[in-house]
Amino acid sequence: MTIEELKQKVLGGQAISLDEACWLAMQPDKEALYAAAAEITRRMAPREFNMCSIVNAKSGRCPEDCRWCAQSAHYPTKAEVYDLLPAGECLRHALCNERQDVARFSLVTSGRKPTGRQLGKICDTVRKIRRHSSIHLCASLGLLDEQGLQALHEAGVTRYHCNLEAAPSYFATLCTTHTQADKIETLRAAQRVGMDICSGGIIGMGESMEQRIELAFTLKELGVKSIPLNLLSPIPGTPLEGQPPLTPDEVLTTIALFRFIHPTAYLRFAGGRAQLGKDTVLKAMQTGINAAIVGDLLTTLGSKVNEDKALALQAGYRLCDTMTDRLHLWHPYTSTTHPLPVYKVDKAEGATITLADGTRLVEGMSSWWCAVHGYNHPVLNKAVAEQLKHMAHVMFGGLTHEPAIELAKLLLPLVPPSMQKIFYADSGSVAVEVAMKMAVQYWHGKGESKKTNFVTIRSGYHGDTWNAMSVCDPVTGMHSLFGSALPVRYFAPQPRSRFHGEWMPDDIEPLHALIRERHEELAALILEPIVQGAGGMWFYHPQYLREAARLCREYGLLLIFDEIATGFGRTGKLFAWEHAEVEPDIMCIGKALTGGYLTLSAVLASNEVADCISLHTPGVFMHGPTFMGNPLACAIACASVRLLTSEEYNWQGKVSAIESQLLRELAPARELAIVKDVRVLGAIGVVELHRPVDMAWMQRRFVEEGIWLRPFGRLVYVMPPFIIRPDELNQLTCGMLKILTEMNKDQ
Ligand SMILES: *Cc1c(COP(=O)(O)O)cnc(C)c1O
Repeated sequence: MTIEELKQKVLGGQAISLDEACWLAMQPDKEALYAAAAEITRRMAPREFNMCSIVNAKSGRCPEDCRWCAQSAHYPTKAEVYDLLPAGECLRHALCNERQDVARFSLVTSGRKPTGRQLGKICDTVRKIRRHSSIHLCASLGLLDEQGLQALHEAGVTRYHCNLEAAPSYFATLCTTHTQADKIETLRAAQRVGMDICSGGIIGMGESMEQRIELAFTLKELGVKSIPLNLLSPIPGTPLEGQPPLTPDEVLTTIALFRFIHPTAYLRFAGGRAQLGKDTVLKAMQTGINAAIVGDLLTTLGSKVNEDKALALQAGYRLCDTMTDRLHLWHPYTSTTHPLPVYKVDKAEGATITLADGTRLVEGMSSWWCAVHGYNHPVLNKAVAEQLKHMAHVMFGGLTHEPAIELAKLLLPLVPPSMQKIFYADSGSVAVEVAMKMAVQYWHGKGESKKTNFVTIRSGYHGDTWNAMSVCDPVTGMHSLFGSALPVRYFAPQPRSRFHGEWMPDDIEPLHALIRERHEELAALILEPIVQGAGGMWFYHPQYLREAARLCREYGLLLIFDEIATGFGRTGKLFAWEHAEVEPDIMCIGKALTGGYLTLSAVLASNEVADCISLHTPGVFMHGPTFMGNPLACAIACASVRLLTSEEYNWQGKVSAIESQLLRELAPARELAIVKDVRVLGAIGVVELHRPVDMAWMQRRFVEEGIWLRPFGRLVYVMPPFIIRPDELNQLTCGMLKILTEMNKDQ
């Protein structure tokens, strides 16, 4: 056995045994042990230094006889004695820590456990803190039972702290008023009610190195991921007042062993580290300490937050620069209590995004279909600057302006010739709302006021507002969650005929049956032509659109095309309707309209639709957003459309080059067992897997590979900016294949 072998074992994802840990502890070459632990720390433990802080919410007069403790009533110490701190005082501490980017804040009380009344007061304090601050809350209140823990959890505490303090074989010599089994039961109960747990111990109380290892393994069995390590500060008056201080080597060896046994945990410096020299603290951080309790410690004065931050940086850790984001900002489809990681962007240029830490990522998402020209484009930048000399915004009610007029002139020749009227709106979802309202108002004008419902196909995505959501796929759109609040729409199955495959004539039958049965109540059929985006990244046969258009004519339904994702060249045609040469009655565009600079969408309609709405009561179309036709957005859209359609730009050449490269470079993914399908159309490449991916893991691996992709569900896909260089696109596809191959091995 060698230190190197045991290190490799841990790095390979295997646990070392108790005997192996004891063997490590006896090795004379301490530096080799520390270096091995440091490598495990660097490669496996979280690299963001984690800070928490505590407030002693009730101090002294403890009936327990823990031999190390200043707060025990059994010993004559100088510890402060006070009853529960007022809630306002605790809140003040919490806010102060939140401002320092401290991740968690713990309420700590002395005593075996709080009385029912005290616990009630503590829960009130927790609620008050949660009401005015977002710092994550921990509590350390002694031997609470499950009911008490449940109350605490419901009030807003997400992690419970209870140190095991020492090895099971040593604890009884340190305390006679309770057992370690009592502590373990408390931790298990906290886990049962859904809290995380935090538990560690004190070293330097006369225990042996084997007993420290025993403690580490006991914590591992409990599944503890946050482990405070205290160094005993012998307190005058306690039985341990005469304990000799630990040597730096004892401290570092203990930390190294804890890291071997807990490769991915937070090993948290807690009390007593002030007795170590700065060099030892730094070395401890490199060896394994990746977290700390900062600020006020129970009774000894801890190091100040800023000193800890400086040391953590020096030891090679990152500090969280997104704490306010984590605590206060809602990201798309994300929990606030367990947010997915986010990466902070400093700047973006061309097809690269540069993170705040300097990491450069090749952009494979075009920021969700938008940034077709890449970032920081001189032509679009100039359009912004020019327009700002005139105005950023004026209302569109009763006023108009050159950018709105100019954009209409640019769009009309590009869209289906029957699209004669343009309604500017602020986002894709709003465009879909507007289109649906138009359809209903059209039939109202026709005297067909029963025709108010909609039919669509499964796996569609049309946005997140109320009506847009109602025509999204009912499963991925979680319709059942919204119950009767959501209007009930009719869904035909997703077309099975593939874009590049055979047309299967019975593909249209379910839609036909639905429309035949329901046409009297149907205002329109809405769908994404050819490419279904966020609902499934599926490419279907153009014949489906021709048949669907025929059904709409036959049964009196309007046809709405949602080209918000497919528009502006993405599918290899300027707009996807061209694949089928089918003209809709209403069409929505958005996303790439401004080249990804500002939010703007448009609803296009035929004169038939517009005239009917205008000729019948109320004689106007009932919609008008505040920021309708925003001049700045329109001016950028003009520049973006002009750029896209200019001859030198040659968007078709760019998209077809991307298409061939994607076809060639994604093809090997077909060989992987985890892969169900690989498909490419225009500048969209999709790898569909058999099972959903772990998004946080996959995104982190992509970032490590220097690429930006955001998979969802079973889909890993790429839709780069059109201006991407072949070598950049190659980096994207290679990174995708590399990570998919890793997943394939692990499965
Ligand atoms: C993104 C998208 C929408 C919604 O657009 P937002 O700007 O996010 O509101 C609607 N339809 C389709 C097809 C989309 O891809």
